[in-house]
Formats: sequence, C-alpha cells, structure tokens
Amino acid sequence: MSHKHLETKAIRIAASKSNQREHSAPLYLTSSFTFDSAEEARQMFAEEIEGNIYSRYANPNSSDLIQKVCALEGTEDGIATASGMAAMFGSIASLLSQGDHILAARSLFGSTHQLLTRVFPKWGITSTYGDISDILNWERLIQPNTKMIFIETPSNPGLEIIDLEWIGKFAEAHHLILVVDNCFATPYLQQPAKWGAQVVTHSATKYIDGQGRVLGGLILGQKNLMDEVQFFTRHTGPSISPFNAWILAKSMETLPVRMDRHCESALKIAAYFKDNKDLEAVKYPFLPSHPQYELAKKQMSQGGGIITLNLKGGLSRAQRFIDQLQMISITANLGDSRSIITHPASTTHSKLSEAEREKVGISDGLIRLSVGLEHHEDILTDIERALEQTR
Ligand SMILES: *Cc1c(COP(=O)(O)O)cnc(C)c1O
Repeated sequence: MSHKHLETKAIRIAASKSNQREHSAPLYLTSSFTFDSAEEARQMFAEEIEGNIYSRYANPNSSDLIQKVCALEGTEDGIATASGMAAMFGSIASLLSQGDHILAARSLFGSTHQLLTRVFPKWGITSTYGDISDILNWERLIQPNTKMIFIETPSNPGLEIIDLEWIGKFAEAHHLILVVDNCFATPYLQQPAKWGAQVVTHSATKYIDGQGRVLGGLILGQKNLMDEVQFFTRHTGPSISPFNAWILAKSMETLPVRMDRHCESALKIAAYFKDNKDLEAVKYPFLPSHPQYELAKKQMSQGGGIITLNLKGGLSRAQRFIDQLQMISITANLGDSRSIITHPASTTHSKLSEAEREKVGISDGLIRLSVGLEHHEDILTDIERALEQTR
C-alpha cells in the first residue's frame, strides 16, 4: 500500500471496520466482547489467539489510536491511557522496581516533577535531576542502581532541546531505558525512537486531540517493554475510554495539517516579536536566537506551536498583560485550535520552589503562548495591543 508519508499513515492506517461498511471508524462503546465458545474464551485468555476480551485490556478504538501513533513514531507497540499523567506514571511504575533510580532532565512538566520528587520516593524509586546545559557530564550522575533516563524535548515550558542522538547513545552505553515525553513535538515533528528512545510517552490531550476536548495518554515503544507495560495497565486499570480513543484516533487524521499551521504561525509570531522592546526574550526552537537552534533543526522537522515570551516588569506586568488580552484564552491547556496563554510560575509550575523554577528558567515574567489555528495576524494584534496597554 502507498502509506509512505506520515500524512497518509495518519489517515489510512487502522480504521476499525464493523460489518456495516461505514467509511469513518465506528465507536465501540462496549465494556466486554463475546466469544464463540468456551474453548475460544480459554484460548484468548491463554493468549493463544488474538482478540478483544475486555475494554480494560484493549478495545478496537484504543487499538486504532495506538496503531496510528505507532505508525508515525516508528514504534512497535503501545498502550493508550486515560490521561498523559497515567502514561507518565505507568511507564515508570511498570518498568522499574523498588530501589531503582531515574536520571531525569530538570526541565519537566509540573506533575511529572511531582511524580519523581513526591510519589515514587514513597515506593523507593528515587530520581536525580541533570542540567541539560551540562549534559556531557551526566555520567557523574549515574548511580549503580540507575535504570532509566526520563526527558522532555522541547521541554515544558522552558523549550530546552536535548540532543536525542547523544542521549540515545548515552542510554545504550549505560544500559538505561530512555523515556522521552514527546508531547510538545508530536510524532509528526519528531520521532525519538529513531534516535534510540526505547519508550515514548504522550499527553494526547494536547496536540493529538488538538481541540481541547478530551484527556488521553500514550506509552509506546519496543515490544518487549510494552509487554510489561501492558501487563501493568491491564491489572491496574488506567485504560482510556473508547469514546476518548475514538476522538483521538479521528484527530490523528488532521494532526499533520494542524501542526503545519501551528508551526508556520508560531514561527511568524516569534520572528515578529523577537526584537520587541517590551520583551526581555522570545524563545522558539526554530528562531536562530534559540541557544539550541541547530540541534532543534537537526531532530525536529518544524519548531512546534509553543513560544515563550519573557516580559520586562516581572509578575505584575505579566499579569496585567494577560488581563489585557481580548482573544487569546487564559487556560492551562496547550495544543488547542484556540491560542492560549499561561503564566507557568503562578499556575502549572507553582508547586515548584522559586529556586527550582529559577533553575529551569521559569521567571515571574515568563509567559507560555500556545499558538492556535486562528489567523496569525489576529494573534499578533492581540499580543501587541496588550503589550502597549501595559507599558
Ligand atoms: C500536559 C502534559 C502532561 C500531562 O498530560 P495530561 O493529559 O494533562 O495528564 C505531560 N507532559 C507534558 C509535556 C504535558 O504538556
């Protein structure tokens, strides 16, 4: 079949079919599936034959979603979960045991940071943070019990880029499981498995849904590791609902065109504001002033839909600026068709101490802009007017 390009794969791979000859994938709202005989039931439970048993294990809608995302990521298998955090938690909880240690990049999503610092230590799984500016010295941070590396690139909200080729080789040399949260880039812009990541995680809530409707998460990777993850999720139950999986599988069909527009507009907006006198800095992976611009170009096909703006005037200016916006929504989500502004220091990353925030570049003046699918000039105008009114 002619499924060569990511755009075609996202649409044509794995649309479940019932016997009604529907063109669009149907929704399988069923908790369980029937067997033709007692013997068939036995064989399925014994994994001698494949098939759907119970929607906590798998459902045609979640299988569709997994197959589509795997086709783009280049991963062998996976699990869809009820939220991104269920995926982050499940990837760690299923693959590590008491006494194991994680080496993590410091710049991580707020709740992932809470998992590593407050949840997993309760079960004897500890973590150390490494600074990515000092990545060549990460060797020093490896402990005898280190089993996993956990990173995000680009990171939320710092937009730090980690060299996937380097870290893939580093993980392999030290026999560590490399987990990459690929939420910001999406499988359309970057495929960490290509660089040696054994596990790729997603908050599908963001760009994969792309319209701010449902929660979902994904854990993808090598078959042998996914067997362990499947065992864990099957018996602990963080499964995605068939409805959310159906929404997300459908959304995958438009991911490439949406991402093209998000990226094109984000680059235009970042370039427009780069020398603005009200801003200390504008950060965007594909802006040549980004400290890791070359690296971003090497491992991402486009720069993504997130920009950070560092306002002069700290917290009070940042808050006044947000309040002056007329179109852009104030909400904690990202990757929506609507442009969204977030103040990480007082919301998504408020549970971090000021010192922790400082280390990952989340100053009080930092604004995260998720560039939506509106016309870029309307987004620009809203920002420009709000900046002028708070001068
Ligand atoms: C939002 C987000 C998560 C958590 O996903 P939920 O679907 O909200 O549970 C994890 N990682 C990153 C990078 C995110 O942006």
